[in-house]
Amino acid sequence: MKIKFCGADQNVTGSRHLLEINGIKILLDCGMFQGGNRDKIRKLNEEFLFDPKEVDYVLISHAHIDHCGMLPRLVKMGFNGKVISTTANRDLMEVMLLDSAHIQVQDAKYVKKHFKGKSEFLREPLYTDKDVKKAMELFVGYNYFKKFKLHENIWVTLYDAGHVLGSAIIGIDFKDGKEQRRLVFTGDLGRKYMPILNDPYQVDHADILITESTYASHLHDSIDSVYEEVTWAVNDVIKRGGKIIVPSFSFERTQAFVYVLHQLYDQGKIPKIPIFVDSPLSTRISKVFDKYRDYYDNETFRDFLDKKKSPFYFNEIKYTKSVEESKKLNFYKKPCIIISASGMCEAGRIMHHLKNHMTDPKNMILVIGFMAQGTRGRMIVEGKPRIKIYGEKYPLKADVVVLNSFSSHADKLELLEYIKNISDLKNIFIVHGEESECAMLRDNIYNILKLKCRVDVADMGEEFEITNKGTTSKMGKRREKYKKDMGNLKSKV
Ligand SMILES: [Zn+2]
Repeated sequence: MKIKFCGADQNVTGSRHLLEINGIKILLDCGMFQGGNRDKIRKLNEEFLFDPKEVDYVLISHAHIDHCGMLPRLVKMGFNGKVISTTANRDLMEVMLLDSAHIQVQDAKYVKKHFKGKSEFLREPLYTDKDVKKAMELFVGYNYFKKFKLHENIWVTLYDAGHVLGSAIIGIDFKDGKEQRRLVFTGDLGRKYMPILNDPYQVDHADILITESTYASHLHDSIDSVYEEVTWAVNDVIKRGGKIIVPSFSFERTQAFVYVLHQLYDQGKIPKIPIFVDSPLSTRISKVFDKYRDYYDNETFRDFLDKKKSPFYFNEIKYTKSVEESKKLNFYKKPCIIISASGMCEAGRIMHHLKNHMTDPKNMILVIGFMAQGTRGRMIVEGKPRIKIYGEKYPLKADVVVLNSFSSHADKLELLEYIKNISDLKNIFIVHGEESECAMLRDNIYNILKLKCRVDVADMGEEFEITNKGTTSKMGKRREKYKKDMGNLKSKV
């Protein structure tokens, strides 16, 4: 069999790994590259390191855009095979991809208007909602743990990854000549005890493991501390008559935060002040969450469903719809919680909430997600005295409180524990982590777990062939072309 690494290699975006088993080509994830230089990212997203027409199947681990965001592009470029994931993931992906298509179209319009005469190739959207619809027609949804035949001598099982709703660890059993082998792809590996989600399923054996490494050198705080910190934060702001503004990712983080608030309301730990979810995308995603209740963990059943309650719909919560409703919140004078997007404060309705609330020390900006370098969200976390919004600078006087324990990725110990419990490993490929995190995981597999198997940190475009005689690797021709293109781009920028 062969594996070609085509994205999220010593990097956390653009997850794409191409398998070839008995001549059948299976793409694990079809993610979007994000962040950084606009031209460079566009180039990475526009082209694949393989011919989309030759791919037979796409298996998607979960609906985050860095794992599925280029599927419509793949379809646009000629892919016409089957797309497989959990059923909940299919619905979540549809919402996420339609939103992404809308952003692509808006971006292309912006470039046309503001960059006349240059960046020719940025003027066309990568895909539109028509491509999303075509991609959705190719979907087949499966439940967790159902082993199904993908192709002659190839079977697939999806296990709960506990990362976001519908997320999967993908297990592939196949016959390679006379050899029976098993490959496991972690996708993004979740954590135990997260709200709503089941704990990540522990796969017990595999010959080949492709593992993420996002937080291979970090240790997260326990999720319990979220409950304590939110209790303190909400009570504190209510005492001084302020409002709490929460920039949040629409998918999973918003629902997890609402779940925590609802539990704290029910336990009487915080007063039941109104919660406004002011993001059309979050509202659409919350609806999908409500539809797929059989994906929830036992605690969600115990605390909500068994009591005939939904975690996401209750008296104190309102999902705002129109822009007018959203703007009205600026004049709402009593304590309340406003959860809005985008998560890193770069666009969307959160912008006007920040503008209208961050100048008053009574209010609090509660940060519950990662803020990347260079974003407005990061400036807020760093406590910059003035923040630019819509071209004007406003003083940041509101309290800024950062909760670090909401992460839905396994940390250093959780990753090592997970790998330790998989027997028979012969090859481990490390993906989806910055360079230092990948190296750290590789060193820890050797030095702490003392595994004797081969461990490779995948390089973009690198192709491995695994036979019963051993593993060989080479850089593909397209990789060389890509390197050349990138070199040319660099000299232009
Ligand atoms: Zn993810």
